[in-house]
Amino acid sequence: MAGEHILVVEDEPAVARGLTYGLKAEGFVTFWAENGRKAIETAKSEEIHLILLDIRLPDISGFDVCRQLRAHGHRQPIIMLTASDEEVDKVLGLELGADDYVVKPYSLREVVSRIRAMLRRAYGDLSTANGRETLIIGDLVVDLDRLQVHRPGDDQAISLTPTEFRLLRYLLSNPDRPVSRETLIETVWGYGSDIGDDRTIDVHIRHLREKLEKDPTNPRWIVTVRGLGYKFRSDVAKP
Ligand code: CA
Repeated sequence: MAGEHILVVEDEPAVARGLTYGLKAEGFVTFWAENGRKAIETAKSEEIHLILLDIRLPDISGFDVCRQLRAHGHRQPIIMLTASDEEVDKVLGLELGADDYVVKPYSLREVVSRIRAMLRRAYGDLSTANGRETLIIGDLVVDLDRLQVHRPGDDQAISLTPTEFRLLRYLLSNPDRPVSRETLIETVWGYGSDIGDDRTIDVHIRHLREKLEKDPTNPRWIVTVRGLGYKFRSDVAKP
């Protein structure tokens, strides 16, 4: 894994310079956008594998950039650069489609390890799923290559974020077995990670249910196991 294209969205030139310098030293190819508008333009015009996205930008906020990118079908991992706990709450609470966040001040080492983990999970795992692998859950077709879920008859496919996709894949590969939140955190962010917590998992599960389940408030496939975590029910999911 080398030479991945990282888009750094950061309005402070000194911070952006520090980040891009460090990322280049680690073998990444970097792009810089100093505002939200340019970030969206760059994501459209360049092949970008991951986006580091500052929240406080001079034109539109990082939240809006994230939302717009997802709305336009961009599914690269997005790591939000947050400055406060309030922003972290917002990242988790809003349906942004961000995959991870780091809190300022952060060390370059921390950012790089997050980037590597995200890239590995978003692309490394996927490249081992060779061919056009699809799964059928109920009336849904899950395209493991494209990170898309399709309901036959619907025009629009449903895009999953890499995080949602990994959660879903883990649950699918452990059908009818209660899976703890801790296990899901390790699956998604790696062992010993300090970013994922129970709340984070619950937020991503909620998003998954909203995308997959007919009635997300009364889920049939991804059910809650009280006091533990979640379970994927294969009996009701058989096509
Ligand atoms: Ca800023």
